[in-house]
Amino acid sequence: MKGKGKRKRRQLRPGVFPKIYGLGTPVLFFDDIYTVVPATSKSHVQIQDKTICLKVDWHDSEAVKQEVLKLLRLALTAKIHERVMVYSNYYNVSYGTIRIKNIRSRWGSCSSLGNLNFNLQLAGASDTIIDYIVVHEICHLLHLNHSPEFWKTVEKTIPDWRIHRKWLRENGHLLNLDYQFHK
Ligand SMILES: [Zn+2]
Repeated sequence: MKGKGKRKRRQLRPGVFPKIYGLGTPVLFFDDIYTVVPATSKSHVQIQDKTICLKVDWHDSEAVKQEVLKLLRLALTAKIHERVMVYSNYYNVSYGTIRIKNIRSRWGSCSSLGNLNFNLQLAGASDTIIDYIVVHEICHLLHLNHSPEFWKTVEKTIPDWRIHRKWLRENGHLLNLDYQFHK
């Protein structure tokens, strides 16, 4: 269901708050903290020098958020395409369509048709974490399961996959674009 305004209000756990976007908001981008600032005639609308430069109505937090997400999506799409190219060559597999989605539950998925989906929240992750997820989904083109053979295939290019999987389990919530977490 996609009905606007009909979404049920979710009861948030203690310590979880909706992330409010505005002037000066810190945003995690490729494992570094960037700040949301106004674009100027020189800086344009773009991500550069640890800033995310926007032309937007600064009173409209949702509009600011959508503009931030648009730039993150562009940057992540470019990176994911590049990494999928590298690793699909290595594993000698072909794939379908690549999609970037802002979802809560999974970092990536691979359909039986060979389409690859990646979570927009990876825009905040390090290159090593992104590579792990890309390789994980590409290896699902060869093994549609998490069998020992699957992990052996992952291990050919990501020997430290256990560390990355653990990092995501313990810290993945820090990449969330919709909520922030306080003790
Ligand atoms: Zn998997």
